[in-house]
Amino acid sequence: MLIKKCIHCNATLKKTWQEMINDAFSRRNPFFCQECINNIAWRKNHNGPLPAQHQNNLICDVSPVNPHINSFLKNIMDNEDLLCEIQFRNGAKRLVFPYFFEKDFVYAYGDRWFKGAVDTVHAPNSEHLRFPLCDIKKMEQVSIYQDYYASDRDEPMIGFKAMPVVDGKIADGYELGVMMEVPKQSDPRTDYKACYLHYCEKLEEPIFHWDRDYIADAVLHPDISPQILFRTKAEGHYLQDDDYAWGSNKLTITEVVSRQEIIDYYEQRPELIEELRNYWKKNNNPVDLWERYKQLAV
Ligand SMILES: [Zn+2]
Repeated sequence: MLIKKCIHCNATLKKTWQEMINDAFSRRNPFFCQECINNIAWRKNHNGPLPAQHQNNLICDVSPVNPHINSFLKNIMDNEDLLCEIQFRNGAKRLVFPYFFEKDFVYAYGDRWFKGAVDTVHAPNSEHLRFPLCDIKKMEQVSIYQDYYASDRDEPMIGFKAMPVVDGKIADGYELGVMMEVPKQSDPRTDYKACYLHYCEKLEEPIFHWDRDYIADAVLHPDISPQILFRTKAEGHYLQDDDYAWGSNKLTITEVVSRQEIIDYYEQRPELIEELRNYWKKNNNPVDLWERYKQLAV
């Protein structure tokens, strides 16, 4: 076959010569993929009534005569990571994160249902999906459902957070001993990464994750916006939203974790120092960084 891509949407054209000839005889474009042909027929053959209800940014009836589809999807694309439920004409439903809309196709990431220690959360996965509008009956934004209530946890949770301190000011508006609060978000249809205050459960996690190498930076780049490790207290609603990250709607930076405490913690866990050394070796850093870090505490 000479033409390998649909000339309308650029998707791979999976058609036999016979199918292309049939299309040509039936006045369909043989160089369009089946989905584009379906979309065009859907637009052409529609003669239903104008959809009157549900025309806001949370819900959208899909029909060729509904001009609201564009603004509904644009609102979703403009706000990162909005979870959306697609109801298909065949009755199926699917939760996705739409990221692009073109030529009557909705492009979306799949939904990664992450099961944390306390709760479960939604987040986009790496699956690239594409849905022709003609298959969709209704789209509904579900990130901000109001009918769930996230209850406060019984106990505060102590954690850790590393942040740069510039001219005596902690980043992101945090102040020592002052509780930061953001609106509580309902569970479980929210991507908490976008809206909650984050911290880690274990001391070593902010030291050596998120592309951060706290120990090496302290030794090799002490002048560049130094990261300080803080102890945190989470109250209100908190949950695990990634392997290493927790989020809370009420977070207090309670104290600085001293270098001596970091050193004592690591010395009691030699496997953690070993992990750092292996990482430094792989990245051509000096392997005596740990010893040099210990000197800083003296
Ligand atoms: Zn196509």
